Amino acid sequence: MAVTIHPSVDHGIAPAVPGFSGGTLVCKCARDPVEVRIDAQSAHNHVCGCTRCWKPAGALFSMVAVVPRDKLTVTKNAQKLKVVDDKATIQRHACTACGTHMYGRIENKDHPFYGLDFVHTELSPQHGWSPPTFAAFVSSIIEAGADPANMGAVRARLKEIGLEPYDCLSPPLMDAISTHVAKRSGVLKA
Ligand SMILES: [Zn+2]
Ligand SMILES: [Zn+2]
Repeated sequence: MAVTIHPSVDHGIAPAVPGFSGGTLVCKCARDPVEVRIDAQSAHNHVCGCTRCWKPAGALFSMVAVVPRDKLTVTKNAQKLKVVDDKATIQRHACTACGTHMYGRIENKDHPFYGLDFVHTELSPQHGWSPPTFAAFVSSIIEAGADPANMGAVRARLKEIGLEPYDCLSPPLMDAISTHVAKRSGVLKA
């Protein structure tokens, strides 16, 4: 049985377009969709197996990237957005009509990723966004109902399409988090 990861990676991953500098994200509503404008290329795009990131129907993984929060503007139908869980570290602003998450924002200024918003570039009609380069929180798909016995096949498929599987974030991002923590505690001199 073929393993399907996410529609944006199952049939080949489109490369970034040099000089690409942003576009719009549009929710799935047929009428009055929410629109978000991003004035930057995305970074750290990856597929994520956690249970909190928004996934299209049927996908095992979400696809999520970051952009600077000051480069993100809600341009249409902002009144349809609501935070999914205001206790969560990442406040995911979702369309109340179609359920699509339009952006996730960290409000805690001490968080290592403060200043970055999490976005799903598959919601964009423009092509050229940075492609996903790894798979995060792979084991967590079991918590969403994936068969534990199928994990070998899932990890093999991720490697086959060039997305190295990790059960947390990628080593560079884990290093960035620990560097932030070490600087704050004084272990590492800023
Ligand atoms: Zn919507
Ligand atoms: Zn996630």
